Amino acid sequence: MRMHCDAVVDRLAALLDEELAPGEVELVGRHIETCPDCAGLMDRMAAQRFSQPELVVLERPDFWGPMDAALDRAWADHEAPALQAAPAPPPWYRRELRLPAGVALLYAAGMLLALGLAGALWQEASDAHAQVAELQGVVDDQSALASTPLPVEPVSFVSRAPYRGSL
Ligand SMILES: [Zn+2]
Repeated sequence: MRMHCDAVVDRLAALLDEELAPGEVELVGRHIETCPDCAGLMDRMAAQRFSQPELVVLERPDFWGPMDAALDRAWADHEAPALQAAPAPPPWYRRELRLPAGVALLYAAGMLLALGLAGALWQEASDAHAQVAELQGVVDDQSALASTPLPVEPVSFVSRAPYRGSL
């Protein structure tokens, strides 16, 4: 059975990838031996598969000069005057606080609450410090006591059993 060129072309990529069934490999191979068109196409595909793609660097030395000039012109015409015309912002201490009275009051109340909380926590922390110092004193006393040797008292054995002749 002779294959048609279209059928061979459809299978060339699969043939190169070794994904064809053995019977198809044989049919395509026989066709390629007799058909110079398909053989040429396969050679080109094979050459393309294993070659790196060529990267063409498009360099335009005359590109950035005019681009920079155009950007400079645009800056000089539009941005720079706008920047100069805009008034400098006032220093932070002169800026107006535009808060409604209620919000300002809430803010002040929040600050007071935070200060009170901080004071309470500070008091608690210093109390805890005092307690720690006191306990450390107790521990020091105890360890001083533990390290002093106990006085050795003379030991006398007393027998409670009656001895001969006492009864
Ligand atoms: Zn062919």
